[in-house]
Amino acid sequence: MLMSGTEVLAPAFARGFAVPAYNISDYGMLTAALAESEAVRSPMIISIHPAEWQLMGDEFLASVRKLAEATSVPVAIQLDHGATYDQVIGAIRLGFTSVMIDGSLLPYDENVALTRKVVNAARPVGVSVEGEIGTIGPRDPQTIEEMNEITYTTPEEAAAFVAATGVDYLAVAVGTAHGVYPPGFSPQLKIDLVATIHDAVPVPLVLHGGSGAADAEVSRAVKHGIAKVNISADMKTAYFARLREVLADPAEREPHDIYPPALEALRQVVRHKAEVCGSVGGADHYSVRPLGLRTPRWVGAPVLEH
Ligand SMILES: [Zn+2]
Repeated sequence: MLMSGTEVLAPAFARGFAVPAYNISDYGMLTAALAESEAVRSPMIISIHPAEWQLMGDEFLASVRKLAEATSVPVAIQLDHGATYDQVIGAIRLGFTSVMIDGSLLPYDENVALTRKVVNAARPVGVSVEGEIGTIGPRDPQTIEEMNEITYTTPEEAAAFVAATGVDYLAVAVGTAHGVYPPGFSPQLKIDLVATIHDAVPVPLVLHGGSGAADAEVSRAVKHGIAKVNISADMKTAYFARLREVLADPAEREPHDIYPPALEALRQVVRHKAEVCGSVGGADHYSVRPLGLRTPRWVGAPVLEH
C-alpha cells in the first residue's frame, strides 16, 4: 500500500525499528525489492535519486505508483537528494509521496529557507519532507582524508533546524559517507552522537551511506532514533556482480535467463537489510489503510492513464 513517508516511518520510529530505503533504477530492481519486502513483511521505501529519475524518465513513476499501491506492505516513494525547489515540485507533481531537499552544502540560513519553502509546498498535499543538516561526505571516498570531509551534525543545530523548517525527518551526518569506502576503511558510526541528536529533536533520523557500515553498528543506531536507513551501494553491487557472472557466458542472451539470478542476489540483500533494520514483520504494526495520504489531483494525468 502506498503511503506518505511520515505514515511509513511513524510506526517504525515509535517501536524502535527502521524502514529500509532502497535506491531503485530499473524495473527488475523495483519488483524484486518490493517482492522481497512482502516476503519478510517489511515496510519499505522506494528511493529514487535525480540521476536515477533522469535515467528512467517520468513515465516510469506511473509504474512505481501502480506497483506500490498493489503491494501488501507499506511503501513510500521518495525523491532522494532533491537539489532544487523546482525539482522537488516536479517530483510531487509526478506522485512521489516523500521528498528530500538537500541543502546541506548551503550556508545554514539558506538551507533553512529552502527547506522551509519545500515543507510549505509539500505539506498541504500530504507529501513528507526530509531535510539534511551536516554533510555526509563525497560519494565513493577514495582516501581517509576524503572521509574526513564529513561535517558532523550537532544536536543544537539539528534541533534549531527542525524547529525552523518543520521537516518530517532529518538526515544526519554521524560517521558514514555515500557509496563504497576506501579499501581497509570501516566507518565508525558515532552512536553517542545519534543518541544525543535523538534526544534533541522530535522527528525520526535518517542514516545515509549505510552500505559498508557494520551491521551491528547500524542496528545500534536504529535503537537510538534512526528510523530510515538508505541502502544503495550494497544492493547494487550484489545485483551487478551476479549479472557479470551470468554474462561471462557469451551464450546467454535471453533476459528471462539473465536477470533472475541477479535479482535473487538483490533480494538476499533486501532480506538482510530488513533484518539489520529490525523491520522483518514490521508491516503488521500498520493499520491496513493509509491514514492521511491524499492523492494529489494532478496525479493520474493523461500520460499516466491509458
Ligand atoms: Zn544520501
